[in-house]
Amino acid sequence: MTVTDTEVVLEADGLTKHFPVRRGVRDLLTRERKVVHAVDDIRLTLRRGRVTALVGESGSGKSTVARLLAQLYGRTSGDIRLHGDSVTVKGGRKFRAYCRRVQMIFQDPFASLNPTHTVRYHLTRALKIHGRSGDTAAELEANLRDLLLRVQLTPPERYLDKFPHELSGGQRQRVSIARALGADPEALLADEPVSMLDVSIRLGVLNLLRDLKERLNLAILYITHDIASARYFADETLVMYAGRMVEGGDSETVTQNPAHPYTRLLIESAPDPDRLDRVGDLQPPEERGTGEPPSLIAPPTGCRFHPRCVHAMPKCSTDLPPRFELPANDDSNRGHWAACWLYEEGAAK
Ligand code: SF4
Repeated sequence: MTVTDTEVVLEADGLTKHFPVRRGVRDLLTRERKVVHAVDDIRLTLRRGRVTALVGESGSGKSTVARLLAQLYGRTSGDIRLHGDSVTVKGGRKFRAYCRRVQMIFQDPFASLNPTHTVRYHLTRALKIHGRSGDTAAELEANLRDLLLRVQLTPPERYLDKFPHELSGGQRQRVSIARALGADPEALLADEPVSMLDVSIRLGVLNLLRDLKERLNLAILYITHDIASARYFADETLVMYAGRMVEGGDSETVTQNPAHPYTRLLIESAPDPDRLDRVGDLQPPEERGTGEPPSLIAPPTGCRFHPRCVHAMPKCSTDLPPRFELPANDDSNRGHWAACWLYEEGAAK
């Protein structure tokens, strides 16, 4: 099955978010208030029963994308569609339905749960807000048990009356996931859901999300800076750099045959014990790109990666590269693209 085979749940088109910098900071020439270009012209599609990974280093804008999709931030421009319907008016019936169908899981499960309330309180509140608590106390109890069983916290009665500090990090994240499931969502936005957990329990939480995706046919956006976990967990991978998307395609292709120089840098920078015995095969830093991400108050013109890119050409610093479709060998790598002038027809590779 290719990444485009299943029903589209959520789409973002031209999604842009600029944050004004603090009062008084203005451009010297135009006198206009300066803005942080956190996210520019993001296009993505989440499909039923599929995981899409959004990968990039800290500050690349991936968490901002998740918060825009969760409607926690207002967007500067662009469109968000649930089953093809644009979501625009905050507070309307359509907006409330959207907030129920699209749920977010936060990075820090301790901060996202109120330390003064029990698991029962958190889950009951989610069920009541979304009208799924049932008509009787017995129905509510059954629904609470069902949520905990879904996230493999068994037996449920052992966890229902515990406070967050009485749970391990992995158990807290499972409670956060159960709370999101309380809304009966179609899409989950998981913002670095395992990065604050011990390495030993990360795999268990990722396996749980994969199991939920398959059993509940959920569309999942998986935000991560760990491109290796994207290969393991996601069907499709999108790579972000400095607020823009630079490459996308099925996860196996993007991670095993990366096209964009930034994706290659990201993969070569990731610790990988398999590569220790072939260190000599790696490109030295000066041949794969060095330096720091740019300021997003005044991002580089043209391709935002050009100050760090060893392949940069004159047009890279003036013209923004569009998405170029890359040739496919078979169905599995169809839909692979890169926003890089190296892939313009006729460009010397
Ligand atoms: Fe490098 Fe140019 Fe491609 Fe940007 S567009 S990644 S600067 S070659």
